[in-house]
Amino acid sequence: MPCSLEVERVSIQYAGDGRTTLAIEDVSFSVQQGEKFIILGPSGCGKSTLLKAIAGFVPVSQGAIRLDGQPLRQPGPDRVVVFQEFDQLLPWKTVLDNVVYPLQVTGQARSRGEARERAARFVDLVGLDEFKDAYPHTLSGGMKQRAAIARSLALEPRILLMDEPFASLDALTRSHMQHELNAIWRHTGVTILFVTHSIEEAVVLGTNILVMSPRPGRVRQLLVNEAAEQPVDSPPYVAMQHTIRGLLETTPP
Ligand code: ADP
Ligand code: MG
Repeated sequence: MPCSLEVERVSIQYAGDGRTTLAIEDVSFSVQQGEKFIILGPSGCGKSTLLKAIAGFVPVSQGAIRLDGQPLRQPGPDRVVVFQEFDQLLPWKTVLDNVVYPLQVTGQARSRGEARERAARFVDLVGLDEFKDAYPHTLSGGMKQRAAIARSLALEPRILLMDEPFASLDALTRSHMQHELNAIWRHTGVTILFVTHSIEEAVVLGTNILVMSPRPGRVRQLLVNEAAEQPVDSPPYVAMQHTIRGLLETTPP
């Protein structure tokens, strides 16, 4: 399979107020096309920093990030981000128009008709067809996240970046959204890079799981998820959780 995203020996340092914070140190990994790649680690280990660097919002201090061999230096519609917050939608636009808008401003659709047709397809895919004319303030948190996912997918990015998008949802909705995301991924084949601090979420979602160590974030281990698509109480699922817990609770040798 062709290599899609390469993160090579990346360190990221924040500077300000006379202090510097080393958020990420010497992190390397690659994500192949079609993977659901999870970055898992405790709060503050630099997961969001890494995602923002891949999105082009934060510069790397050392190392390089490449997409299909090309160095990444700025944001682009080939890498779209879905965040944790529920306020990612434009409140004065309907669900459908929230999806149409970026298709028009990025020039991805040649006409308003084409943009609306493509937007409607993705709104339907995330199960919001009945709510396409609703305004964001009338939607639940889970529905807002569905709309944000539809908007991102409609841009047909090379890689979908997700920063704890389900972390503010109640437990039932969260579990439901995880299974919906798996279904969307099977349907579209989109490459996903998903950040979480939840072991359960990582094992339910990931084809690959990069376990990070606490601040400054370093790679602890890269795991191929043997439990992907398995029931949540199956032996491989339980074993994978156990392995990850062991990695997160011990310091590297
Ligand atoms: P995570 O997403 O894993 O919780 P973050 O990437 O948000 O971690 O943060 C990693 C470290 O970098 C933390 O110590 C945080 O305080 C620091 N940090 C994050 N953003 C900034 C910033 N804009 N300026 C200075 N320090 C920051
Ligand atoms: Mg974060």
